[in-house]
Amino acid sequence: MSNEEASGDFMSRVIAKAAWLIHEGRIVRISETMYYVIGRKNKHIVRVDGSSLTCTCNGYRERRTCSHIVAVSTIIKLSSGSDYLNKVMKARVERELRLIGKQMWNI
Ligand SMILES: [Zn+2]
Repeated sequence: MSNEEASGDFMSRVIAKAAWLIHEGRIVRISETMYYVIGRKNKHIVRVDGSSLTCTCNGYRERRTCSHIVAVSTIIKLSSGSDYLNKVMKARVERELRLIGKQMWNI
């Protein structure tokens, strides 16, 4: 196996594990700069310093990346994404209410 194939395989495993951590609700936000990640065997702390994330696990120490970091950075992106979704949802509800209001006046 070439190095490229090996690293692609590694990244797909990391991403699959990150998705699992998020899906299972295994990531706990302790503060704006600290997340607690409950792995299958061990527990880890991911620290956020601006755009750089660090983790306490062995995988991070060896490879400078790990599923915990991928999971936490995804959650950070998702939480600003959900603000956007909330705004879009609110606008939709207001439109629906205006429509209902108009229909009521017509009766
Ligand atoms: Zn880690």
